[in-house]
Amino acid sequence: MMNTPIDAEDRRAVPPVICYPTETLPHPDLALYRKALGSAQVTHRVTAPPRDACTFEVPAGHFFRITCTEAPQVGDLNLWNANDLSERFFSGKTRALHGTHVSTGDRLWSALPHLRPMATIVEDTLDWYGIDSFGGSVHDVIGTRCDPYTHALLSGGAYHHCCHSNLTRALANARNLDLIEAERHVHDVLNVFMCTGFTHDTGQYFMKASPVRPGDFLTFFAEIDLLGALSACPGGDCGSEHSSDTARCAPLGVEILSPDETSLNGWAAPAPNGYDRSHGR
Ligand SMILES: [Zn+2]
Repeated sequence: MMNTPIDAEDRRAVPPVICYPTETLPHPDLALYRKALGSAQVTHRVTAPPRDACTFEVPAGHFFRITCTEAPQVGDLNLWNANDLSERFFSGKTRALHGTHVSTGDRLWSALPHLRPMATIVEDTLDWYGIDSFGGSVHDVIGTRCDPYTHALLSGGAYHHCCHSNLTRALANARNLDLIEAERHVHDVLNVFMCTGFTHDTGQYFMKASPVRPGDFLTFFAEIDLLGALSACPGGDCGSEHSSDTARCAPLGVEILSPDETSLNGWAAPAPNGYDRSHGR
């Protein structure tokens, strides 16, 4: 039985405050990044095959662009410091700082104790989408990644091409690690092109067919040396189901772009976080 207090409505009526006002965050110089991008040449191309993942390296000060090439397709992105795999993308704090979905000007932050920008979004052809009437939006940092463990819990089967497994195999191949070691480094993703939200009535995580179309892309500036891994999710456009071979699944393209050497004059990679790690002792 629910014990509703008599002042329940008053308590609910308390207005929210933003947890992390971002005015004091170091802001990226988007004009500088865009100028550098204007001079940039593609130096490397790699493809995430359907239901599989690719890896790529991006030096600090270079760009990478993820492109929808053949059909609406969702990608699951992991990022590491290329020189230290323990510094990896921190989806939770990125969400707390920038909101449930990211777009141009937002940054992808690294895990504690590093907590610095790893990458900054400089172009997003889906930035027109906004938030739809269901509460859905694009490029979320609220989902985790489809994985065979949750699938086994819910369905009992063994499916080997979830994004979690695709990312694990790709990292193992890229860094010559065994699967157990590689799996430890796989983390919650940026869901590139995925359209998601929480239902208004039950607060459940939902997905819907991505509005992405061939030719759409998302471009990042690498703030530090990056190793990236991108999985072309078995859910395809994630309009019906994932963790199976049912959905139409398309490849995703990744390009690495190198700017003119002088175009980033005045820019420096962000320093590691300034906290001294003494934790009060
Ligand atoms: Zn997936």
